[in-house]
Amino acid sequence: MTAQQHHDQGRAAWRLDPWDLIYADASITGLDPARQGYSSLKALLKSQSAVSRVFIDEFSRAGRDVLEWFRLAALAKRLGMNVLGASDGFDLSSPTGEMMLHVLGMFSKFFVTQLREKVHRGMTGAARRQTCLGRPPLGYGLVPKRDAQGRPMTGHDGRTINELAIDSATMSHVMLAAERFADQGWSYGRIAKEFIRLKVDGSDGWRPRSIERLLANPLYIGVAIYNRTRNVRDPETNKRITMLNPRHQWEIQRIPRLRAWSDDQWKRVRRRAYRLRRGKRQATRLSRGQKFPTTLLSGNLWCSCGQELKLVRSGRNGAMGCFHGLYGVNGCTMKTVKARSIVEEAVLAHVRQFLLSEAAVDRLVESANRALAEEAKRPREDLRPKAAEVDRLMKRRSRLVTALAGEEQDDMAEIEPSALNATCLNVSETKWRCSSTAQHGNRDATT
Ligand SMILES: [Zn+2]
Repeated sequence: MTAQQHHDQGRAAWRLDPWDLIYADASITGLDPARQGYSSLKALLKSQSAVSRVFIDEFSRAGRDVLEWFRLAALAKRLGMNVLGASDGFDLSSPTGEMMLHVLGMFSKFFVTQLREKVHRGMTGAARRQTCLGRPPLGYGLVPKRDAQGRPMTGHDGRTINELAIDSATMSHVMLAAERFADQGWSYGRIAKEFIRLKVDGSDGWRPRSIERLLANPLYIGVAIYNRTRNVRDPETNKRITMLNPRHQWEIQRIPRLRAWSDDQWKRVRRRAYRLRRGKRQATRLSRGQKFPTTLLSGNLWCSCGQELKLVRSGRNGAMGCFHGLYGVNGCTMKTVKARSIVEEAVLAHVRQFLLSEAAVDRLVESANRALAEEAKRPREDLRPKAAEVDRLMKRRSRLVTALAGEEQDDMAEIEPSALNATCLNVSETKWRCSSTAQHGNRDATT
């Protein structure tokens, strides 16, 4: 049977049997099998055996994901149904059906690869021209790009070309977040709450993670990085995951007019972020390398993916590396290892040069002295009211105890035990506060 005959057969079948149910998905990528229309169709197939045939406008439109086709075909076969492509003449039950499935799959895959390549090329071009790609980050807006004479530029399709520009209204929020985070010790969560309160960007969906990402965007110092990550679909779980691209594929550009932070500000933000990450790691269980170090630097080196650098080869020619990178998991791209001796020598050289130098020791002593001087300058707290409070509470406690024991003082006989408990707690808390302040005062006195 020729393709034309298939085609006619498909058409004829369609004409003869009026359909009962129509499922459609408009302008959603065929790569997504979770599309509403498609998943409803699949659910129907699974639930109702009354369906004998499924017509698809064009079989290759059932999905661009080849694996998904085979799933659909297998499901249809299992339920004893036929799948027909109305315009491309596909017929699963025909002798060539299975083969057509593979052939169409091959072409579809090729089409998707080509399309992806084209989109990627277009995006890279737009990145190089610095025309806008996607939604601008907080603090930036879109303005028409102008040529040397100040006229708005248009693309070959006649639409105006946009580019990023600093938006002072929203940028003030970014500056606020950076300051609070780097200088006032606010957490990501607290900034997120503040952003929700201020309805920043009209959104109340701010989360600690979105603040963390926001503050890590190098665009605030005028560095744009495109193509840093890519999204792929895990064929096992069908979930979208973000993978880090290898560094040489990144499109890095310096755009000074988009700079909003000073380098110093950026460094302070990054340092605090780094300290938080380290803190999180240390809060978790100690690794084996940290508990039982076998080399000089065991448990002290980390890959940029977050995994500890470990000995991947032991012995005299030992080497250190990242197991995430070696197994190609968790988006780590560090596939190489480095000899242990080279790593140790590099770290030790840095320590010798920068941490053990006289200048560095002087700096350390100076900053320690400064901190001590500041501590000594703080006004000392007056302890007399607190001592009086302790005295008063102690007396009350002893009176309550006497009352409970039933000796003398009839007027306090109806005291409740909870009142005694509260007073005891109060006494110990005030005493504790008092003693900690006193220690503090002593330390001040000795400095
Ligand atoms: Zn790694």
